[in-house]
Amino acid sequence: MLNLPAPVTAIHGVGQKTKQALAEHNIHTVADLLLYLPLRYDDRSQITTIDQLQIGETVTLKAKLVKISDVYRRGRKMTFATIADETGQTKCIWFNNKFISKQLKPDKSYFFSGEYSKYKSLTQPTVEKVGADTVHTGRLVPIYSSRLPIAQGTLRRMLKNAVDELAAKKDQVLKINSDLDLPNLTSALKQLHFPEAEENVKQARQRLALEELLALIQKSEKIKQEWQAKSQAKSLNLDNTELIPEDLPFSLTEDQHTATQEILQDLQQPHAMNRLLVGDVGCGKTVVAGIACYHSQKQGFNTCLIAPTQILAQQHTESLQEIFPQLNIQLLTAENSAEIAQELQNKKLTKPYLFIGTHAVINQLNLIQPSLIIYDEQHRFGVKQRSEGQNLNLDYQPHLLTMTATPIPRSYMLTIFSHLQASFIKEFPFGPKKIKSWLVQKPKRNKAYTWLTAELSKKPDELAIIICPFISPSDHEAFKNVKSATEVYENLQQQLAQLRQSNSANLNIALLHGQQKKQKQEKIIQQLFNKKINLLVTTTIVEVGVDLPNANYIVIESAERFGLASLHQLRGRVGRKGQQSYCLLFSQTNNQDTQKRLENFSQTLDGFKLAELDLENRGGGDLFGVQQHGFDELKFASWSNAELITQAHQTHQKLKKLNYQSILFKNLINKSTPVAN
Ligand code: ADP
Ligand code: MG
Repeated sequence: MLNLPAPVTAIHGVGQKTKQALAEHNIHTVADLLLYLPLRYDDRSQITTIDQLQIGETVTLKAKLVKISDVYRRGRKMTFATIADETGQTKCIWFNNKFISKQLKPDKSYFFSGEYSKYKSLTQPTVEKVGADTVHTGRLVPIYSSRLPIAQGTLRRMLKNAVDELAAKKDQVLKINSDLDLPNLTSALKQLHFPEAEENVKQARQRLALEELLALIQKSEKIKQEWQAKSQAKSLNLDNTELIPEDLPFSLTEDQHTATQEILQDLQQPHAMNRLLVGDVGCGKTVVAGIACYHSQKQGFNTCLIAPTQILAQQHTESLQEIFPQLNIQLLTAENSAEIAQELQNKKLTKPYLFIGTHAVINQLNLIQPSLIIYDEQHRFGVKQRSEGQNLNLDYQPHLLTMTATPIPRSYMLTIFSHLQASFIKEFPFGPKKIKSWLVQKPKRNKAYTWLTAELSKKPDELAIIICPFISPSDHEAFKNVKSATEVYENLQQQLAQLRQSNSANLNIALLHGQQKKQKQEKIIQQLFNKKINLLVTTTIVEVGVDLPNANYIVIESAERFGLASLHQLRGRVGRKGQQSYCLLFSQTNNQDTQKRLENFSQTLDGFKLAELDLENRGGGDLFGVQQHGFDELKFASWSNAELITQAHQTHQKLKKLNYQSILFKNLINKSTPVAN
């Protein structure tokens, strides 16, 4: 009897060669193979009779073999067969098929599946004996992606063997939660590959979705336990200390205040903090993180702030230095990090520092020995994202704080991500944002740009950011309509030149993207901060948090390419001081659903509401949004299925006593996916 964790070679007919081929695609166990799901099913259960054959149709016949013979023509072997059912006779042809004439026996019944060609015969049909449990014909037949270097028929046979040989164990999950009206795990897997009916697939997917959520919950609990067992943290003693520094240039909002208190509470515990700081773009997370660093530094500890890009690291350095003049801050760059490593090594740094840099900072942790690490992740998070500091190679556990703008519902923190604590900042320091958003229809595109340039020429201190999905135009047919930064930049340059000629405006435009030389990027960023630029054409590199206070206009080209969560992030770039701002969305498609989605977006500024809408959309096959909602990607479950998530949580609580471990998704969850920045 086969088990899920067994190696693939345990499946009948899988040898070393196949094992190696599968291993290259990260398929090692029976469970891995079973999660290689069909793309679709071909309905070969509908039997056509011979009198109904139509040229060009792909059909399945149930017929008796009348005769079969091999013929050689110009060195090519051809096999001809005559077959018959109660309505008539027809022919089959195979080319270069070594075995078929020996396999098929006259007077026996078979299923023949294939195309009825203009030669009035079935060409190269797939054949299976009637009676046995069929694999390739006479049923809903799974069709797999051709990503694996294994023939469709072979793969199907392997999977059939796997589901047939799989030990039908008692399903613990269903046993413990008998309210669930779902098939057991083994039969769900069977139905996913070889469904008896299309409806069974849906139920089977639900069972796997539940399993997937259980695996996530279990993983989260495991991280929590490991965390608690970890060695001591470098903790603070803040008795008799003023928690909020007196000389901050502004007073904190109530939410900032509460979050700060929660974090400082954690930092005083003997065990390390693992906390999320959740808040929409512009709510003021940085200062809260800064206060944590401030207290740590006062007690003699180094701290680290890890930003997703170098630009952002630099900006954090500048803005934190401004808010906390007394803080020792050191920006780590590719240029200076070796030198600083040397100084750390030789213990030449006499003061504790807050080190700010990109992910490369991790390499220096051994030298820095920070008490606290802050990740500015903006909007990627989940249990698969990162190792939660497990592989930091330190002999103590640093406190971790992750700042994120992903609007995570509070309830998920309790049901799924139990290894994390969370603090939420909901209000904005300058009051609610005032951003007017419009979805601009194609014919009005030029007019919109004319309006924009006219606005900007009235207010030369202000900035419009124009976001394009691509840097340069794509050669790919499917993407030829997607706007690119270089193309939009060139067009606008021409338009601005005309305005200059007619003396109606003198606007400066700049192009900024990740393929430019670093020096060039830095120069442009400097010009931006000096308010020398009116129009910035760029890609999503500005998405990750660059603070440009004079940005009052944002234009998003090919907006259909972005998920709502991403659009929200982008829109968050403008109106950061509560001033009136504008967001224009251009879309290249007339697709109704997309239009609706973008229309919804332009009508609400509420990040949580948008996240919900985004999650709902996903069920509708919104491909472009898939990677952009910020949570871990799920294979079966959906983040919008709150009911199933609750079910999973309840089931998990009951299962705890049984020590149930989800085997099916073990690998999937342990694999970490890189953070996309
Ligand atoms: P985010 O949460 O997106 O990282 P930031 O921390 O960058 O937001 O804050 C956005 C802007 O608001 C910054 O310029 C910051 O200095 C300012 N800010 C933050 N908190 C306050 C406050 N309580 N009062 C006034 N300005 C604030
Ligand atoms: Mg930020």
